[in-house]
Amino acid sequence: MNEKQLWDKFLETIKEKITPISYETWFKDTYLNKIEENKIIAVVPMQLHKKNLSENYKDVIAETINEITGTNFEFEFLLEDEVNKNNKIFIEEQGVPFNNPEQANLNSNYTFDNFVVGTSNRFAFTAALAVAENPGKAYNPLFIYGSSGLGKTHLMQAIGNYIVKESNKKVLYVTSDKFISDFIGINRKNNNNYDNIDYFKNKYRNIDVLIIDDIQFLANATQSQQEFFHTFNELHQEGKQIIISSDRSPEDLKLLEERLRTRFSWGLTVNIYPPDYDLRMQILKKKLSVHELAKPIEEDVLEYIANNCTSDVRKLEGALNRLFAYTTMFNKEKINLEVATEALKGHLNSYGYIKNDIQKIQSVVADYYKINVEDMKSKKRTNNIAFPRQIAMYLSRILTDESLTRIGLEFGGKDHTTIIHAFDKIDKEIKNDSNLEQVINNIKNKLK
Ligand code: ADP
Ligand code: MG
Repeated sequence: MNEKQLWDKFLETIKEKITPISYETWFKDTYLNKIEENKIIAVVPMQLHKKNLSENYKDVIAETINEITGTNFEFEFLLEDEVNKNNKIFIEEQGVPFNNPEQANLNSNYTFDNFVVGTSNRFAFTAALAVAENPGKAYNPLFIYGSSGLGKTHLMQAIGNYIVKESNKKVLYVTSDKFISDFIGINRKNNNNYDNIDYFKNKYRNIDVLIIDDIQFLANATQSQQEFFHTFNELHQEGKQIIISSDRSPEDLKLLEERLRTRFSWGLTVNIYPPDYDLRMQILKKKLSVHELAKPIEEDVLEYIANNCTSDVRKLEGALNRLFAYTTMFNKEKINLEVATEALKGHLNSYGYIKNDIQKIQSVVADYYKINVEDMKSKKRTNNIAFPRQIAMYLSRILTDESLTRIGLEFGGKDHTTIIHAFDKIDKEIKNDSNLEQVINNIKNKLK
């Protein structure tokens, strides 16, 4: 989601919450200028809007943005003129000599545009975008963590590509392995040591943005850690942006020096979770739309892949590649479920089920209570939504083998304690309420 899309979504959502006339008057002609730190700066047509929006619509605006981004933002409303004035100052501030993707070690295929956003990665995405738009100012450092294949490298590279394109700041992307080998290079004998030191210092200090991927590998390299510590400090003091990724949180990087870990949490730490079913489907569709070998695929084939490939986006992509390679090799014209199961044998989890149980429970329960599944996965607390949600959580708990974490994820990234709470609550209510027991039985029958 870029900024324009974010604002479009915001307008669309807030429109539902207020009267048409207030929407027309106060919101229709606003647009987003930029996201800065934790503040959204929006442009409004008249002075009057500023006052009214910040006094009378403050709460609904904040709530709506929170629904969309999962983050609490502050707002500033500016007039067009004021924004133009600000921009001028902004341009004058940047004076770094050169930049380009090759020197930065960036792969231009990784962009924000082709990163598909869902519940599990929205926070990370939003933070990444904020940093890209305001390097050194928004969150410093930005620390992104999550298991392998969930899009960390993609997001970091997207930040780099964005900055290189939109500013003349100098970016450097390296893996922590590369950092270590560059550092070891300094100390290697038979080399002109001074040149190496200069090279190293120049490479790592003479930049505006340092992106360092998979920092966990620094754990075993004590001296490189010290050097990284100095690099970090120097860049940070000068307000240069640092972006770090890891397969675990700063607290869990046990082999890293304490002083480094503390520094990592100075800025903002964001976690990427495994994608839920919807996001997996969306990612598949997105990858399909740009795949070189793409052939028409039946929807149930995509569902099959999304259902049996639950943990990792890299694996989802792999499934598509494998499917297309197979169908090209064996000259299959039509990609149906039969071809897909054959092609993906051994690649996917071998559950082999076609429908995702949790997803089915959600849609049957939502149907029963005449609400939509999106609301069920949202944060809305009104009883007409919260109650069916708890029923669906309860049923997911008793009818599937999925872990609490997985169930939480499929309900819009809820914590496992929320699932336990829902389970206990419904379990107790059933015992005291024979009507509810009947309802649950009806729903169970529909699920059969
Ligand atoms: P990580 O660095 O976390 O191990 P990567 O960034 O290398 O993961 O992602 C693995 C692959 O999955 C990449 O090809 C990346 O483009 C893709 N990918 C991950 N998340 C998304 C997403 N949300 N939208 C589109 N592609 C994604
Ligand atoms: Mg990576």
